[in-house]
Amino acid sequence: MSKLFDLTGKAALVTGGNGGIGLGIVEGLIEAGAKVLIVGRDQAKNEAAARTGASAFAADVTDEGQCRAAVAEAERLFGRLDILVNNAGTNVRKRPEELETADWHKVIDTNLTSTHLMCQAAHALLKRQGGKVINIGSMMSIFGVPFSPAYAASKGGVVQYTKVLATAWAADNIQANAILPGWIDTELTRGARRQVDGLHDRVLARTPAARWGEPRDMAGLAVFLAAPASDFITGTAIPADGGYSALG
Ligand code: NDP
Repeated sequence: MSKLFDLTGKAALVTGGNGGIGLGIVEGLIEAGAKVLIVGRDQAKNEAAARTGASAFAADVTDEGQCRAAVAEAERLFGRLDILVNNAGTNVRKRPEELETADWHKVIDTNLTSTHLMCQAAHALLKRQGGKVINIGSMMSIFGVPFSPAYAASKGGVVQYTKVLATAWAADNIQANAILPGWIDTELTRGARRQVDGLHDRVLARTPAARWGEPRDMAGLAVFLAAPASDFITGTAIPADGGYSALG
């Protein structure tokens, strides 16, 4: 394997790594040689995902203490942390005039505040040898849709927060970048297709690659952003979307 993409000896933590896009990323990191700790709330999903060879830790990333405990578990297992992937996410699909305040907080806490809490908890460990932060944005970091106000706000925030990390932590040799997935077939978007009439076909028609993405489609970019190949790349938000964001 080219040294550019070799993660042998590196340790990674992936929030929401027990399913969907997170699991696709976990598989890619392991294939490139990294040791991985998956963090999610559901023990059964954690145990099933650990079959990839990853370790798993049950934690809710909206809770500051549990974020610190997850990072401490990575240090206990691996003695280091090189790669942090902030992927845990959720959505409540309602129009802005209908979204309840509790729904707003749930989505912002899960998608955006968790990213800050995990980064803060991991900073000292990442700084020891230099490291990589990969935050998961969305097409809704760029585009608006009528039915996802808190989600779009959180994902726009993730991109801006990533730029702040890049500027604040460059001197620590930590690179921070965001991945903006297109429409990927996961539990999250299965829910969206049930709730939003015609979504499945609209996505197909709007995506130049003419298919929904698979979680594995995110693995290559995640490995690149975790590897020495991307050491001079920081503060970016890169679409992995089958051309969705390129179509005017
Ligand atoms: P899934 O619903 O399949 O997975 C979500 C993951 O997040 C699960 O592993 C879940 O584990 C974890 N999670 C949710 N809340 C918490 C929490 N409070 N604490 C810890 N873990 C949590 O969704 P996707 O794989 O589709 O989404 C992954 C990321 O990708 C999200 O950030 C999403 O916004 C983003 N994304 C997805 C797109 C898509 O088309 N699918 C497109 C663009 C972005 P558990 O339930 O065990 O806690």
